[in-house]
Amino acid sequence: MAELRNCPTCGEFFNYTGVRDVCHKCVQNEEEKYQIVYRFLRKRENRAATVERIVEVTGVEQELLYKWVRKNRLHPAMFPNLGYPCDNCGHITNQGKLCQKCQEELKSELRTFEAAKEFRETLASSEKGTYLSEKK
Ligand SMILES: [Zn+2]
Ligand SMILES: [Zn+2]
Repeated sequence: MAELRNCPTCGEFFNYTGVRDVCHKCVQNEEEKYQIVYRFLRKRENRAATVERIVEVTGVEQELLYKWVRKNRLHPAMFPNLGYPCDNCGHITNQGKLCQKCQEELKSELRTFEAAKEFRETLASSEKGTYLSEKK
């Protein structure tokens, strides 16, 4: 069942059928832009282009590029410098929701937490007299 909606990109009314969330015109528009970007990236010397560079050359919106990388239409394995902003710090990443740095920080925070817990447990057991301090 079609439902009349406002296209979030251009504001025009369109029949929403549950497949696309923008109007037909904008879908086509987006496809055209994708083709431009794809044609640009197909050249070997452009494979390592960054998002900024592609925006500069093709005039395609940054947000669209991020969306395509998120959806894997532009594969980071093929285009190593493409990515989208990390949910936490905004740094460009190309896997998961967080960048490498934030993932590491999250992990080390977890490790610090674990280490502190372990230390407290050791302390607790040493108070019970099981800690062998004289052993060398
Ligand atoms: Zn539209
Ligand atoms: Zn980050």
